[in-house]
Amino acid sequence: MKRYLILVFLLSLPAMAELPDAPMPQKTKHNHGLYGTWPTRGAFGASVTVRTIDTIQTCNNMHRGNFREDIAPARSCRGIILWNTGMVSAGIGSQWIFHRLGWHKLESIGHLVSAGGSTQGILYTHSHYKRD
Ligand SMILES: [Zn+2]
Repeated sequence: MKRYLILVFLLSLPAMAELPDAPMPQKTKHNHGLYGTWPTRGAFGASVTVRTIDTIQTCNNMHRGNFREDIAPARSCRGIILWNTGMVSAGIGSQWIFHRLGWHKLESIGHLVSAGGSTQGILYTHSHYKRD
């Protein structure tokens, strides 16, 4: 086994020697405005849509009573609105940061995380609370 590992190491030396010539990951070219590409806009739209649905659903349940929010750190409808607005804003902020850094392909991530979190919240509510 030891001999085999030494052999593998020796055989891989030429590959290591070529590493400095390997192309480094490049920042993608700045070829769009701050409003992003279509995937970024789609992710932003998904985030806003799902967060809005989540807010309406949660506030409705709170007004009906016998409901407590388990995930978001808010215990009132106003808090839920602030929380979901903040999450959409965080998505916009991360998009702006990635855009400024030149990492344009990562600009959708914040919006996708925001949309995913709210989707999970909606599904969680549907699976844990029964309608009257
Ligand atoms: Zn960009």
